[in-house]
Amino acid sequence: MEPLKIGIVGAAGRMGAMLVRQVQAQGEVCKLIGATERAGSAAVGKDAGELAGIGALGIIVAADPVELFAKADAVIDFTAPAATVAHSVLAAQGKTIHIIGTTGLEAVHDAEIAKAARHTAIVRAANFSVGVNLIQALTKRAASLLDEEFDIEIVEMHHRPKVDAPSGTALALGDSAAAGRQVALKDVAVRARDGITGARKSGTIGFATLRGGDVVGDHTVIFAADGERVEIGHKASSRQIFARGAVRPALWARGKAPGLYSMQDVLGF
Ligand code: NAD
Repeated sequence: MEPLKIGIVGAAGRMGAMLVRQVQAQGEVCKLIGATERAGSAAVGKDAGELAGIGALGIIVAADPVELFAKADAVIDFTAPAATVAHSVLAAQGKTIHIIGTTGLEAVHDAEIAKAARHTAIVRAANFSVGVNLIQALTKRAASLLDEEFDIEIVEMHHRPKVDAPSGTALALGDSAAAGRQVALKDVAVRARDGITGARKSGTIGFATLRGGDVVGDHTVIFAADGERVEIGHKASSRQIFARGAVRPALWARGKAPGLYSMQDVLGF
């Protein structure tokens, strides 16, 4: 089979550069064919390989994604919510596989992406690591087995430049816990606490956010009852797990019917 033609949007970002290196490293199954950055970025016009620290690849970073979505079989997108929605429209037009890692999306963005997924295969995950997807499955199971005697709290820590909170992964773990309890996260989530909050309400799912240093991503789901506590956790020590994890669904989605897929679908959990 021909190598999958992959495009990377946001190629100068922390994840974008990692993805450029990952796609190059998997050269027998996929091939980097183009890269973009936000208009006005200093990276536009530069070589994507040089930006990623692996030497020139002859792929010049463009500001306009239209051509990239027309040429690529799959585009991997770890950018920003508004950019990702605009990219999903191009993916729908070009029938391009769209792999979305961007977090911090609101309900209005979700609706646009669901619309685009009527026309092409979109794989979206708040976290592309295999380990986090495993703890999502374990969290759902634990929440279904442990009743409301067990209070659910989710603690996350990330690097100081992270702009959204709680992390997309923490919210996805909250979704898993809520699904296990057969409730909607939006009805039970307590996303922050400050001041005189009153006692904890039974059945809620609480979040706590820590920021600092260069932490790639730590998540713990705590089930706390009187006299005992269960913790399900994951610690990421390298962003490479996300890059490797994002190339895998691009290959998996080849030939798949249009639809919105999750990493759980890809991994078969
Ligand atoms: P970053 O700020 O380093 O990179 C984002 C890049 O996107 C920047 O270079 C920015 O210029 C670029 N960009 C913004 N708008 C653009 C546009 N319209 N066209 C092209 N490029 C554009 O951030 P990061 O740490 O790489 O993270 C990016 C996103 O990925 C965040 O939402 C983060 O939470 C998420 N993330 C997800 C996972 C996962 O596994 N799903 C893992 C890590 C990070």
